[in-house]
Amino acid sequence: MTDKYAVIGNPIAHSKSPLIHAAFAKQTGQDISYEAMLAPLDGFTAKVLELIAQGYKGANVTVPFKFEAYNLCDVLTERAQHAGAVNTLIFTINHIKGDNTDGAGLIRDIASNFGIALQDARILILGAGGAAQGVFQPILAQQPARLVVANRTLDKAQKMASQFANKVAACTFEGLKNQSFDIIINATSTGLTDTALPIPDTIFTKNCLAYDMMYGRETPFMAQARAAGAQVADGLGMLVEQAAEAFYLWRGVRPQTAPVIAQLRKA
Ligand code: NDP
Repeated sequence: MTDKYAVIGNPIAHSKSPLIHAAFAKQTGQDISYEAMLAPLDGFTAKVLELIAQGYKGANVTVPFKFEAYNLCDVLTERAQHAGAVNTLIFTINHIKGDNTDGAGLIRDIASNFGIALQDARILILGAGGAAQGVFQPILAQQPARLVVANRTLDKAQKMASQFANKVAACTFEGLKNQSFDIIINATSTGLTDTALPIPDTIFTKNCLAYDMMYGRETPFMAQARAAGAQVADGLGMLVEQAAEAFYLWRGVRPQTAPVIAQLRKA
């Protein structure tokens, strides 16, 4: 019997997850279905319970439900607890288990696909929202030389940094003057509105990696980084890698991601 999975979000029509999981299933010979499901803004829990009643085995969760998913779970993995948000649900007979694969997806994209070591690197995260929160612990586990979070609203960055006792420094964009980095990750949502960030060109060292979590088009952050001599990446690889991690949790099989990333880039 085909095992059923879904991604729940609002909006959801744009989601590439059904394409990605269909490609993984074909590649690994797993008999699964995977659909995009729109949940009303006040109807996330009802949608999850509906899927469970229909025999679904699990689901991915995307904007704006990752925090609600966190609160709904009976069991949380350590990385979901650190992230404070859940993007992968596993339905078992007794409980709903929640995990967060976003951080692992980002690390795998940078380390494996781009071949760039995070260990001993000076790393900057721009933004202190949900996406940023999910990647601190996985990045710290790689033992960077330095980890800084810069955000428009300073107290949010400070609050985030304070969770990691002296391991993360917080500042405003203004505070980035006279600092430079080997890896810079844009985890703000400014790419969605084509807004440039007030960050100095001097933060980009030559050949540093400038990684925008947003995917699908060149953002002002990517354009600025490219002009400053950085190597530039978007978040498509992270998207596919976080999906691969979820697929592994559900099916116990690790799909190859490179052909799927190439397929999506071509499309
Ligand atoms: P949130 O809404 O939680 O956070 C938004 C962040 O962007 C905040 O830090 C906010 O700053 C900052 N911001 C928004 N507008 C501006 C602005 N005009 N100038 C400066 N800073 C601004 O969003 P998420 O963290 O959920 O998502 C962030 C991005 O990451 C999105 O583009 C999303 O698509 C992407 N993403 C990609 C994934 C992938 O798999 N590739 C996975 C998850 C997310 P402030 O605190 O001051 O408001």
